[in-house]
Formats: sequence, structure tokens, C-alpha cells
Amino acid sequence: MALMIKRGWYVVFLPALISLPLFLLVAMVNEYHNTNNAKRYALIELTNTAKSFSAALHYLQKNSPGITPVNYDEFVDAMASNRHSHVSIFSTDGVLLGDNMASGHALTNHPNEKKQAEIADALKNGVGQSLRKNTLLSLQMRYVAINQQAFVIRVGHNIVIEQQEVASLRYNYLPTFIILFSLTSIGGYFFIHSVNNRLKVRYQHLKQKLHTQTSELLLLQEFGTLLTLSKSLQDIEQVLAKFSQMLLYHDAGRISVIRSSRNLAEIKISWGQENWFSDKNYPLDGCWALRKGSVHPQGPYDRLIRCEHDNDEQSNIICIPLNAQGETLGVMHIRRDNLEDSFDEADRKIAISLAEQISLAVANLQLRDNLRNQAIKDSLTGLFNRRYFSETAEKELARASKNKSTMSILMLDIDFFKKLNDLHGHDGGDAVLRMFGSLLNQITQNEYIACRVGGEEFVLLLSDTSVSEASLFANTLLQKIRDMKIVNNGHNIGPISASIGIACYPLDGDDINELVKLADQALYRAKENGRDRIEFNQEMSLIEEL
Ligand code: GH3
Ligand code: MG
Ligand code: MG
Repeated sequence: MALMIKRGWYVVFLPALISLPLFLLVAMVNEYHNTNNAKRYALIELTNTAKSFSAALHYLQKNSPGITPVNYDEFVDAMASNRHSHVSIFSTDGVLLGDNMASGHALTNHPNEKKQAEIADALKNGVGQSLRKNTLLSLQMRYVAINQQAFVIRVGHNIVIEQQEVASLRYNYLPTFIILFSLTSIGGYFFIHSVNNRLKVRYQHLKQKLHTQTSELLLLQEFGTLLTLSKSLQDIEQVLAKFSQMLLYHDAGRISVIRSSRNLAEIKISWGQENWFSDKNYPLDGCWALRKGSVHPQGPYDRLIRCEHDNDEQSNIICIPLNAQGETLGVMHIRRDNLEDSFDEADRKIAISLAEQISLAVANLQLRDNLRNQAIKDSLTGLFNRRYFSETAEKELARASKNKSTMSILMLDIDFFKKLNDLHGHDGGDAVLRMFGSLLNQITQNEYIACRVGGEEFVLLLSDTSVSEASLFANTLLQKIRDMKIVNNGHNIGPISASIGIACYPLDGDDINELVKLADQALYRAKENGRDRIEFNQEMSLIEEL
């Protein structure tokens, strides 16, 4: 673009610059041509003059028989008195017989000219010519000599005559050149003008494209930054909804994540149109992008093959697999409602770039979740650990206090666990703990918090639960424990039972450590009172009075 030529005087100057070498070339050719022509005409003229002298001399000799060699000089003087031409007559021995520029006296003393090139040639070939300096006249002369058997006639002229002629023709091509130059300049001006305009349009176009690309790049950069800072899928959803819309001009999008069991992909993030993807899950085979391991569709014609999850024939959907660290995590689905509005190559590139960043963000979240789970979960039972209990109990109590609601703490201990270990080995004991864990997981669901705080000791945090609700829950739990069928390596273990101690907020206090201690004491009492039962901190009769 730096080469773009602006309109101005140099638009005309440019053709002139281009014409200059042409001008010099034409001038050189013209000069050469004119010089050659002048020489050629001079030779013809000198030869003709010599011939006419010869004819006149022959005529004279024939019709005036008394004419003597002395008369040659008078004849030449008379015939060429204007002295434009230097005419000389020589004998075939090279002796000057007559000359229009030398007197009779000079003739006799004149040196023999037989050796002069033109005379020598004329004597040999009939005609001779030369261009040389005449030392007597001190002039550069062109000579033509013709041999007429009895004498040689030589005619010459000052070379200046030819040079003057060449000079007079030197600039005869100038008008043509000026016309051509003007035409070239005007043509050049319009040519450059039109090229300029085209370049300007192209430049604007490129500038626009660059501008768009820069904006896209900045958006992508900002998108990446926000994704890196995203702490949850909701954060990612929020960022995606805004940025992908600006970058891809689409109507809706979904992110599905492959479950750890790797049998289904589950929609985890959605934005735009709500009634799209009515099924929250789809089998991995149901998406061509997952099967191919690359974008689907690749081009406009692939649209003919739609994914199983894509049941709307009236929209354009593009699926891009999310890959991170050599593993496919899920798929990004982007939808445009207008079938005519297909995804072109540029859209695909942006979508892939978005997908790459999302993949990293999702992988990071998963990694973070895994690390967090490892830190707060017990690996044997899948329940939360003591650390999580300590973190959460205080918060739950504060929430209950804020909401002026109730909360119950259940301390659980499996009865005669030592015996179980003794009878079925540590392995058998672990199997009981695993099953016990999944029972607690299942019964608490997302509502309550179950933690393993010791070998076979557990705590349950039951928010929004009164003493009577806690009692009902604990009794149901004890029944479920009794009903557990535990099998390890083909051996039946059980039945088992557990004892539960319960303390309630605000009934028993408002300090978490105190409440835990009271629940522990209640548990001790449950053991004391025969096991496989529940005990409250308060006497049951007191509770019933409440
Ligand atoms: P009680 O009814 O009084 O609770 O009797 P108990 O036998 O259960 O007594 P206690 O609670 O004191 O015994 C707990 C035992 O649990 C001791 C220990 O060997 C066993 N234990 C602790 N952690 C694990 C574990 O991770 N796996 C297995 N298999 N056993 C464990
Ligand atoms: Mg114990
Ligand atoms: Mg025990």
C-alpha cells in the first residue's frame, strides 16, 4: 500500500520519466538515421555532379576539338564558379588538370593526388570516395571521384554542409514526440487514477478486514482471559453466552460434557433458545463430531448428515469436539436458526478457537474439582471427610441461625465393628464401610451432608431439620442399616447395626463444638443402652413435652 500513488503533478511526471529514455533513444536513432541519409544523399549528389561534369567535358571535347588540357581549369572554373563544390580534374596519373579552387599557377605545383583514397579507388574500381581533411584548404571534405578513362573527375564538399543538414533535421520528430508524450501523460494520469482508485478500494477492504480480525483477536483474547478466571460452569456459561454471540453471530449454543462413565454426554452449559436439546443427555454415538474426533459438519455439504441429537432440519448446527490433554471432554454445539446462514470457513476457525479455549477451561475446572474432591472426600466410602465437616458445620450453623431455622447433628457408630473385622477380615470390614457409605450417600442425596469422621464413625448434618424430623430420619436410617445385604467375595456379612446420638440446634445449644460433643455423648448413651438405637441429648420425655 505504501506504493499507492496519490494524484498530483508527479502523476504527469511519471509518464515523463518513463518517456525520457524513449525520448533519448528516438533522438539517437533519428540522429543516426539523418547522418546516414545526409551521407547517402551527399554521395549521390557528388557522384551526379561528377557525372554531369564528365558529360559536359565529353560534349566539349567532341564539339570543340581544339580544347587543350590547360583549358580544363577554365572549364571547371566556369562550370563551378559558385565554389560550393570543390571540383578537380586529374589525369590518370594523378596530376591535377583543373580545379575550381586553385589558380593555374597553383595547379602546376600541386602535389600528385594519385595516392588519395578516392582517386586510388576510382583508378582501380571506376568510382572512389573518402572523407578526409584537405590540408591545402584546411577543411574536412567528402570526396567522390569517377574514372573517365582519359581523366578522373573528383567532386568534394565541406562536410559542414552535411552537418548543417543533419542539424536542421535534428528536432523534426519533436512535435510527434510532444503529441505522444501528452497522450501518454493524459492516458497515464487516467490509468494511474483508476489503478489508484482500485488500490484505494482494496486498501479500504484490507483495512476493514484487518480491523475485523484485530477486533476478533482482542475478543478471543478477552474471552480466554475470562475463561481462565472462571470458577464454575456457570461462569463459563456467562462468558460464552456473550462472547460467542459476538464472534459467531449465532442463536444458541450448548456444551455437553462426557460423563466419567463415558457412556453419555450431558448438556452442562446452555445459552440461547431454550427448547433446543430437550434431552439433557445423548449417547456418544449420537454426535458425529465425537465419532469423527473433528468438527462436524466440515463443509456445507456435510449438513446432509445430521447428528442424532440434532432433530431440527430448519437450522444450521456445528459441533466441535472439546479436546484437552489428548482426551475428548465433550462437544460444543452452535446453532443458527436460519438455514441459509451457514457456517463458513472463517466461522469454523473461530468456533474451533473458542472450543480450544473452552476445552482448557473445562479441563481446568474438572482438575480443580478432582483435587477438591480428593481433599474433602473419603476415598473408601465416597463421603465427605472430617476436614470438610469442620469447614461446613460452622457455615451450616451460621446459615440456620441467619434463617432462624433448625439443624440436627447425628453421630453414628457401627456396632461391634471390631468383631466384624475379626470375623471377615479387614477386607470384609472395608466392604461394610463402602456399602455403609453408599447407603448414607443415597439417603442424604443433595439435601444433607454425610461425613466419615473416624474408622467407622460418621456425622450427618441435617439442615432445616427439627428434633422430631431428625428422629424420624434416624429411625428410618437404622432400619435401612438393619436391612443392608452385604456380600464380600461371595461371603455374606451381616446383618449389621449402628447407634446414633443426636443433638439439635437451637434446642441443645448454638456452638458447633458443643453440639458435636453433646451428640457424641448421646451416642455413648445409645451404646450403653444396648446399641442399634438412637439417643437424644435431651431426655425423650423432655422432648415430647416440647
Ligand atoms: P462398638 O459397638 O462399641 O462401637 O464396638 P466396636 O467394635 O465397633 O468398637 P470400636 O468402635 O471401638 O471399634 C472400631 C474398630 O474399627 C477398630 C478398628 O480396627 C476398626 N477400623 C477402624 N478403621 C477401619 C477401617 O478403615 N477398616 C476396617 N476394616 N476397620 C477399621
Ligand atoms: Mg467406634
Ligand atoms: Mg463401633
